[in-house]
Amino acid sequence: MDTSWMAKGNCRDEPPSRFFPSDGVGVDVARRICATCPVKEPCLEYALDQRVDHGVWGGASERERRRILKRRRAAKGADQEAEAGAAARDAPTTVTG
Ligand code: SF4
Repeated sequence: MDTSWMAKGNCRDEPPSRFFPSDGVGVDVARRICATCPVKEPCLEYALDQRVDHGVWGGASERERRRILKRRRAAKGADQEAEAGAAARDAPTTVTG
């Protein structure tokens, strides 16, 4: 996985502890730094892909990332159900008799 984006983050000159806050105020501080980060998207995708449990990544807290993953799982499940339904409808029917 390409992690070259890490060197371009707004957090590169911040103490790492700022992105592992212990309360909501700390999360807001980290989020504000992430808000203008040029690599916000790859950072968030990395944390989601690697199932990083702690800290603020891509402007999203642990709780927000769990919600994003849950929404994506639900969307994927709905897509798979739709595909299965379409495949069943498109399947050739056998006419006997
Ligand atoms: S989005 Fe936030 S945590 Fe990620 S690289 Fe940028 S500043 Fe750092």
